[in-house]
This record gives sequence, C-alpha cells and structure tokens, in this order.
Amino acid sequence: MTFPDMVADLAATLPELRGRLMANQSLADLTWFRVGGPAQILFMPEDEDDLAYFLAHLPGEIPLTVIGLGSNLIVRDGGVPGVVIRLGRGFNAVAAEPGARVRAGAAVPDVRVARAAQEAGISGLAFLRGIPGAIGGALRMNGGAYGRETKDALVEARGIDRRGRLRLLTLADMHYAYRHCGAPDDMIFTQALFQGVAGDPAAIAAEMDQITESREATQPVKSRTGGSTFKNPPGQKAWQLIDAAGCRGLQIGDAQVSILHCNFLINHGGARAVDIEGLGETVRTRVKESSGVDLEWEIKRIGIAPTPSPSAPSPSAPSPLVPCPPPIPS
Ligand SMILES: Cc1cc2nc3c(=O)[nH]c(=O)nc-3n(C[C@H](O)[C@H](O)[C@H](O)COP(=O)(O)OP(=O)(O)OC[C@H]3O[C@@H](n4cnc5c(N)ncnc54)[C@H](O)[C@@H]3O)c2cc1C
Repeated sequence: MTFPDMVADLAATLPELRGRLMANQSLADLTWFRVGGPAQILFMPEDEDDLAYFLAHLPGEIPLTVIGLGSNLIVRDGGVPGVVIRLGRGFNAVAAEPGARVRAGAAVPDVRVARAAQEAGISGLAFLRGIPGAIGGALRMNGGAYGRETKDALVEARGIDRRGRLRLLTLADMHYAYRHCGAPDDMIFTQALFQGVAGDPAAIAAEMDQITESREATQPVKSRTGGSTFKNPPGQKAWQLIDAAGCRGLQIGDAQVSILHCNFLINHGGARAVDIEGLGETVRTRVKESSGVDLEWEIKRIGIAPTPSPSAPSPSAPSPLVPCPPPIPS
C-alpha cells in the first residue's frame, strides 16, 4: 500500500523548513507491535521553531497525526494518510532544575527522565522507569504505574497547536483523568516540567530496580505488544474480566492474548494490524457477553484499513480464530 507522493509539492511551499519530510515511510518500524502501513508523509522537525513553522504553513485540510515511541499504538495496515509527526533529536534534552524539578523534551524516553531525577536526588518520578514511551506520550496518555500518574508530577507542559502557535499549559489545563488528557487534541507537546521532592539517590535507584524486576516478572515486556490494551473499568481490573471471559491465550493468526498478562496482546511475528485489532474486538465482545462490561480501548488505533483488490482475498479481513489453549493450572 502506497499513497500519492506529496512531499515535493509540500516542500515547495515551505522554503525555510529544516526538518525531514519523507514519503510513504514505514510506521511498523516505529511501533512496538511492528505492524501497519506507511505514513503518507513522515515529518521529523529539527526543533520547536521548525515544528511551529511547519504547522503554521500546513494546509488545514491535510490530516495530522503525532506519534511518540509507538508503545501504545496500533497502526492499521492501510497506513496513515496525511502527515505523521515524530519528534527526535531537537526534543531530546533532559535536565534537573532547582527546587527538585526536572525539565524534559517530549522525545525523551520516560526511563531517561526517571534516571535523571534519580541521579539528581529527586524522588517521585521513579514510576516513569516502567513506562516504555517518551514524554509526549506520557503527557497525552497520563501514563502511570505503581500508584502514580503523570498528573501527580506535572507542573506544566509546552506544545504547538495546529496553527503553529506556542502554548503553555498548566496542570489544570490538561484536564487529566485516568489514562485521559483533556488538553486540545491538536496540541503537539514539546516539553514538560515535573515536580519531585528531595530524596536519596540510592533509595530511588533501589525503587527503580524493584519496578524493573516486578515488570519483568508480570508483563511480556520483551514482546511485540502495546502494553495494557483496555482501560480498567471503574472498580474492576480489565485483565480479570478478560480472564473470566476465557480469553487468556486466545489467538487470531499470529496475534495472541498474552498468557502471562491477559490485558496485553502480543504479535508473535507474523500478525497484521487487522489480526491484533480483530483479536481486541473479539475480547471486547466476549467480555461484554460474560460480564456485561464494555471494555474501552487504552491503545490508540490510527490509520486506515487497506483497500481491497478484486482479485485477492480481502486484506482487511482478520485471520481465523485459533482455539484457546487449555487453561494453565494456577
Ligand atoms: C511493555 C509495555 C508496558 C507498558 N506499561 C505501561 C504502564 O505501566 N503505564 C502506562 O501508562 N502505559 C504503559 N504502556 C503504554 C505506553 O508505554 C504509554 O501509553 C506511553 O505513555 C506511550 O508513549 P509513546 O511515546 O510510546 O506514545 P505513542 O504510543 O507513540 O502514542 C500514544 C498517544 O500519545 C500521543 N502522543 C505521542 N507523542 C505526543 C506528543 N509529543 N504530543 C501529543 N501527543 C502525543 C499519540 O498521538 C497517541 O495518541 C506500556 C506499553 C508497553 C509496550
């Protein structure tokens, strides 16, 4: 699947652009699941000014999507029309500041922020150790773990809106709830300022080690996955509902509900996006039938299904369901 190449036409309208514009760039390589079609145009801005210039001049009718490290994403097999923005080097600075604060660019992996805080003796950011995304994704998802969320540590976020205007958002402006950010959808975050408290570097390092150990024991962190597939419904655990619905180990093609943690979906290597999304929808249906609960996707799904060709089997139909393996003895 390829899109019409718009790069030359777009570049001609942006003489001062410094970042890279790439046509039909694979997104599978940029996500944890390793599935999905290309971005019609992938744009990697050089820095915040470059991003603002690009957005100020991008025609309003061209669709725009931003991705981080792709650890919470299914990119559909037909790819993403329009422009996909991915922040890189120019958004990669992280530094401790006076008053137990840490300032980080949106492309900084969460783990680097946790480490910078630990080295500076700033407690309260160790939870970021276990989240495999970057700061832009943490801001948008209100990423959290081990009893803390982004909202508990954020002072303010900085970003550029669809019209290229720089915006500073306070914590209140982010309208956070569990895995939800109510900041305007068009905001591309570029930086965050976090508040911690003074702490002992050795104790923080021990806390981070414990997080790493606990993750490796309970989650398929070395697999092609998107983390928790569904949000926990109020007062309930998604994984328990999925388990009770008999979906642990359920498989469509090479996509499987993780046996280790059944709110995780896994790509064993050959799955397509349609298999993973279809498996998620099958889980939702079975959970609804068994418990009456409507699970809400936590993973973001972007892009379009591939266009079917008259001579080939439909590329948007999922592979057949594989029978469930026998339950594992507890
Ligand atoms: C093994 C594993 C474990 C995980 N464990 C956890 C966990 O414990 N807790 C948790 O909260 N999550 C967890 N996740 C999910 C994921 O890591 C988080 O949601 C993370 O915050 C996503 O960041 P990302 O950079 O990968 O964003 P992406 O997955 O690339 O994008 C996620 C969303 O953020 C938006 N976004 C990304 N960057 C920006 C930006 N600069 N400006 C505006 N919007 C942006 C995207 O448009 C998209 O809507 C896990 C994932 C995996 C694979």
